[in-house]
Amino acid sequence: MTDTPASPAARLQAALTAIRAGGLAAQVSTSPSVLEAHSHGEAMEAACLPGAVVFARKTGDVATVLRACHANAVPLVAFGAGTSVEGHVTPAEHGISLDLSEMTAIVEMNAEDLDCRVQAGLTRQALNAQIRDTGLFFPVDPGGEATLGGMCATRASGTAAVRYGTMKENVLGLTVVLATGDVIRTGGRVRKSSTGYDLTSLFIGSEGTLGIITEVQLRLHGRPETLSAAVCQFADLDDAVRTAIEIIQCGIPISRVELLDDVQMAASIRYSKLDGYQDLTTLFFEFGGAPASVQEQVAATEAIALSNNGLAFAWADTAEDRTRLWKARHDAFWAAKAVEPTARVISTDCIVPISKLGELIAGVREDIAASGLRVPLLGHVGDGNFHSLIITDDTPAGHARALDLDRRIVHRALALGGSCSGEHGVGMGKLEFLETEHGAGTLAVMRALKHAMDPLNILNPGKLLPPGRVYQG
Ligand SMILES: Cc1cc2nc3c(=O)[nH]c(=O)nc-3n(C[C@H](O)[C@H](O)[C@H](O)COP(=O)(O)OP(=O)(O)OC[C@H]3O[C@@H](n4cnc5c(N)ncnc54)[C@H](O)[C@@H]3O)c2cc1C
Repeated sequence: MTDTPASPAARLQAALTAIRAGGLAAQVSTSPSVLEAHSHGEAMEAACLPGAVVFARKTGDVATVLRACHANAVPLVAFGAGTSVEGHVTPAEHGISLDLSEMTAIVEMNAEDLDCRVQAGLTRQALNAQIRDTGLFFPVDPGGEATLGGMCATRASGTAAVRYGTMKENVLGLTVVLATGDVIRTGGRVRKSSTGYDLTSLFIGSEGTLGIITEVQLRLHGRPETLSAAVCQFADLDDAVRTAIEIIQCGIPISRVELLDDVQMAASIRYSKLDGYQDLTTLFFEFGGAPASVQEQVAATEAIALSNNGLAFAWADTAEDRTRLWKARHDAFWAAKAVEPTARVISTDCIVPISKLGELIAGVREDIAASGLRVPLLGHVGDGNFHSLIITDDTPAGHARALDLDRRIVHRALALGGSCSGEHGVGMGKLEFLETEHGAGTLAVMRALKHAMDPLNILNPGKLLPPGRVYQG
């Protein structure tokens, strides 16, 4: 590192001078509207303007920016699509927001090996549209229009994780620019390897705190021969939850099983125009595979649902009907927001071992009733993961009430052996729970890793790790 000028503002200017001199002058913006768009994600955090936004187009651009930031000790926050919900992309005041959304190329496609390499700013929707003709698809589907780099960084999952796993299971390798600007490749194209530390997994879920991902080697999957979707409504939430648990415990290889409680269903019926359904707790199912296998899955699932007082299955047989159903599920957050357009919605993201899900949801409903807040419940119940969408006044008092409920829900999940976040990540919003979840010793090791890889703490400072002891051996 060179001698750094004293003030953060002067260091930022020195870094920007180096970035412009490195050939990126046309990719730097300090326009107020661009700064505003990079000042927050989808969370409840207070926005903070970055000092500048740099739009990267290739790995070399990212390396140029990081070298300049490292030489001048300027904080940098990677920005994919900004759909994260825990304050992940909130920038430092005199820092740089590094936008990767223009890095959208498919670098290589290996259909015969079921893998591909993409730039980190490509969205999963754009990838699937472009590879449709190959008969393959990428299954991880968070609700937002997220980038694959952002999805790696948050270890995202979605409705299909119960069948295909999360980003952790679907990324084979990465290109990463380290804090110093050095570029490394991790992993490879093979399905397994027992050589060396698993650095790919280290970067998956690291929220831009250890390095910036510029390319991702992804596992692809064959589109199932047959797909079938159904909806089953229940008068009682407990019956729906028991159905989901029994489906998993019986080992039915279901592609998706999603729960929307009666409050969420009412909001989704209105927002997504889901005609023909009642305001009742509902499970959405998808079955995929060879026709005989789908038939078996359907029969077994139907039997479990009926034995738990489920009403008759409603089928979504055409591709259009299925798309409408899953679009409604993915839009559930916006449906909840539309209930009170001026309110804030904060989403919890607890996960517990599947056998504890009923107990957790029963406790959460007591907490919700005591809070007096309106809170739709929905979730990837096949994974033991669900969201409470806490709708609250957009005032300090409203935020405090919502966060109080959020804390109660998280502590219930942790007491049942769960995690405070199944898929959204830590950002700033979940920092306070990490020590209870992981223990002080484990966090000290995580800080040692962070310190070794980013000694100046320029990569997304203040996120993922609460301050504290660093393990020193
Ligand atoms: C309506 C809605 C529904 C959602 N549903 C789900 C869901 O079902 N499942 C789920 O998992 N999430 C869900 N999310 C959350 C969000 O979509 C995910 O966290 C997503 O993975 C974020 O991707 P992004 O491109 O928007 O990343 P951003 O929000 O831009 O960034 C997220 C984090 O990753 C870092 N980052 C971004 N790109 C890179 C990179 N290339 N290299 C290193 N670090 C990087 C950022 O610094 C930040 O810390 C939902 C969000 C919304 C608004």
